[in-house]
Amino acid sequence: MSQPKPNQPAIDVCGGRAGRRVFKAIATLLPRVLTEGEQNLAVAEAIEQVGWRKRVVFGSMWGLTHRVALVFTDRRLIEIALSFAGRRATGLVREFAWSNSLEPRTDGQSFSLGDAPIWRLRQSLPEVLLADIEERSRDTKTGARRVGHLQAWRLCPECGLTSSEKDARCRRCGALKRSSRLAALLALAFPGAGHFFVKRPGFALFRCVFELGFFAVLSLQLLKAGSTFTTVSWMVASGLALVLIKAESISQARALAERAGTIEDVRAKRWLRFIPLGIVLSLSAFIVPMMFVGSADTKITGDLAADSTHLGWTVSRVESTDQSQRNAQAPRARWLHTDGWVVEVTAQPFPPFEWTDTVRARWLAEFQDRTEVVASELRLGEIDVLRIIETSFDERGQEKATVSHVVFDSYGRDEHVFTADVTQDDLAEFNQKIQKLFPCMYWISARPPSSLVKRFITLD
Ligand SMILES: [Zn+2]
Repeated sequence: MSQPKPNQPAIDVCGGRAGRRVFKAIATLLPRVLTEGEQNLAVAEAIEQVGWRKRVVFGSMWGLTHRVALVFTDRRLIEIALSFAGRRATGLVREFAWSNSLEPRTDGQSFSLGDAPIWRLRQSLPEVLLADIEERSRDTKTGARRVGHLQAWRLCPECGLTSSEKDARCRRCGALKRSSRLAALLALAFPGAGHFFVKRPGFALFRCVFELGFFAVLSLQLLKAGSTFTTVSWMVASGLALVLIKAESISQARALAERAGTIEDVRAKRWLRFIPLGIVLSLSAFIVPMMFVGSADTKITGDLAADSTHLGWTVSRVESTDQSQRNAQAPRARWLHTDGWVVEVTAQPFPPFEWTDTVRARWLAEFQDRTEVVASELRLGEIDVLRIIETSFDERGQEKATVSHVVFDSYGRDEHVFTADVTQDDLAEFNQKIQKLFPCMYWISARPPSSLVKRFITLD
């Protein structure tokens, strides 16, 4: 009987075209693993059945990540891990020797060896093969089935030598295994890097987009956060989400590293050097949004109120019909003085990514040539006040002044404008009286606290 060459499918490639694809995927690796004179009986594709931990770590992708080629030879069963598409061997090779096996079993859909992992077959195995395997797994002398624990051995994908889980290198050819520790560090350092290292480029791209996208959404919420409560809430949420996502990523990279075979020393060193760079990139992606927290907030976070009773002012809030609170022209309050002055109060948030200095500079630039900037140096703690006086003539031909005091709230990122029409005679007295009011002013929430909570819950 002629012995077929090890690298040829001798008896059967199960499953037609799919089987031929699998055989092509392992064609270069298989001859390195087969021993002298070993007969290749059949090749089939299967999914290694894994425990619940790995199913949790990989979610619905666990099946794709545990795709294998099963090579039945006359001496043993060789399991070769495959890529997602099943077109490439990823490098994990294990053997189950027939002479050492417990009951090979199949129900057409799955195949198992005693307590060894059960594979879900993608193609059913031919009857003749099953009979053959059963014969080989019996004790040659007594004909009885062997008992005991079935040992799966890892094989070096380069030379086929049995290796221990602990060995970093093959003891014969010196091939370096892809380290699960390095994979974990890479997964931690940069989104997708760990997955790319373990030869899963598609998965790596997905992880990268997923992690960065998730982080972008959280960053956007931080940029839009208008209150300390919202900011802190989003920071806590981001932190927790980051820990969970990174833990998942690291677990996946570690599990995939075990299935990823060997790597050249030079390339492993290059990956090692990428870790600090990845950490710097990740940290900057983390820190930059923190620097701009609240800068895209387009809501008014507080109204100005004043302890005004003893100064002759009556303050009444004007309930806006515009619920969006974005209409800057809608007055938010009306202040009346016993001398008859009426002050309209409006407020609006700073435009996104603008700060007090830029907003103030714009006011100054806009009104420089048309009006006189009387006082820009009134400073009440963090509050900047700008006074702008525009003069015009009323219908009776009398000169009147429209006085605007613009209060910039650096903390809340909004501006409050107090506007009143005053006669020229009253101007000095009005300015003096309203000026006395500014040190008495305080912030009141523009929204009741309950709506703040609601805003957080509805992620508005
Ligand atoms: Zn080797």
